[in-house]
Amino acid sequence: MSRLIVVSNRVPTQEGGAAGGLAVALHAALEQHGGMWFGWSGESSGERETDRLTIRESGNITYALVDLTRRDLDEYYSGFANRALWPLFHYRLDLTDFSRRDMAGYFRVNRFFARLLAPLVRPDDIIWVHDYHLIPLASELRQMGLRNRMGFFLHIPWPPPDVMFALPPHQTIVRALSSYDLVGFQTEFDAENFAACLIREGLGNRVGDQVFDAYGRLFVMGVFPIGIETSEFAKLAADYEKNQVVQRTARSLEGQQLVIGVDRLDYSKGLGERLEAYSRYIENNPASRGKVVYLQITPKSRSEVPEYADMQKEIAELAGRVNAAHGDLDWTPIRYINRTIKRAALAGLYRIARAALVTPLRDGMNLVAKEYIASQEPDDPGVLVLSRFAGAARELDGALLVNPYDIEDIATAIARALDMPLDERQARWKPMFDRITEFDVTLWCQSFLDALKRTRVMARAS
Ligand code: UDP
Repeated sequence: MSRLIVVSNRVPTQEGGAAGGLAVALHAALEQHGGMWFGWSGESSGERETDRLTIRESGNITYALVDLTRRDLDEYYSGFANRALWPLFHYRLDLTDFSRRDMAGYFRVNRFFARLLAPLVRPDDIIWVHDYHLIPLASELRQMGLRNRMGFFLHIPWPPPDVMFALPPHQTIVRALSSYDLVGFQTEFDAENFAACLIREGLGNRVGDQVFDAYGRLFVMGVFPIGIETSEFAKLAADYEKNQVVQRTARSLEGQQLVIGVDRLDYSKGLGERLEAYSRYIENNPASRGKVVYLQITPKSRSEVPEYADMQKEIAELAGRVNAAHGDLDWTPIRYINRTIKRAALAGLYRIARAALVTPLRDGMNLVAKEYIASQEPDDPGVLVLSRFAGAARELDGALLVNPYDIEDIATAIARALDMPLDERQARWKPMFDRITEFDVTLWCQSFLDALKRTRVMARAS
């Protein structure tokens, strides 16, 4: 069997504490194939570039980690990846800050990764590259003569052509993807957008159902909606009474209904609109005063990027304003928390919450939506209020789907969720739970790797 090489910007080494579902599934695939996980160490080497790889072995997995200079991190990571690609791919042209210096840094770091990785690769290794930080990696590796099977999965959305074309180097980005054998997206919408970008600019042609011919290469495009470790979450949630954090929270509710939101502090998550909508819900439903508590768990992220620092202030102020406007001596309508909560506690909190608000303005998938469904008590499930613009909405159609820009729509959905009778809650929840139980993260991982192994046969048949 061929070895597997996984490449991602951050590498979740086992010392990093409790791993998320993606890391667990990829570790399992790496254990099975034997192989290597390559990427940035998470450390800065300051001003000095270093070619030194930190190698760690664990079972039959090798971790190969490299430090980046402060300038690399500024330009490649905080710059082009997080201030140009991230906002643009989330349809936020208004926040897209394109600079040629950052773009050059992005391509330079990808070349640097390729230079360090290439000597470690054996001819029959399979290479799986993850996410928007590393789009040019395959084209760099191919220029160094590697002919291995290479796959790429984009965890975030792919925007429509008119949004994509606003990025000056959009053709270079599209061209870079054609160096892979398989390019995977979260939903058909993302895949259609990508195909439209290729075709509208005459960069490539569809030559088979999923096969494209671009820049003299054939490659396959596929849709692989990512899953979670559903049964693991269901187990953690069923054990919620053993968790101190959950117990403490449950006691503090004193019979009030809990509404939960869990999001990194990111402008794509629609937090401002959501807080406004909850405020509107209280105004529209005066009887809810003192009977409902909304817990918003929001770890800070990417604070070095100015747009995120601005948002931290904005959202905290908004939560404060809603509490000041509606709160009482014995009632705080919103509990706004900036700490990261561990998975076991999160599963229990999902379990005791009567409703979850997952209302991103745009999201590749949104794992929180699936985790909430996985964590419900089958006899008394809660209700998911879900943005139609989250990738998860394609699968979780038993949720109350809302337009995340429409405050009244979200406010109405909150009221509906909290009043929903048991039989409707069960009827909506069960098919969603069955779906995410079948299509969990392990199946996702296998499906991508199976497709990657078949790509050349598909390309030949097209
Ligand atoms: N998460 C967590 N603790 C927190 C907040 C979030 O473990 O305090 C996890 C959450 O369980 C989920 C992930 O972070 O697995 C967020 O993934 P999602 O797809 O929802 O959004 P992203 O942050 O990747 O945009």
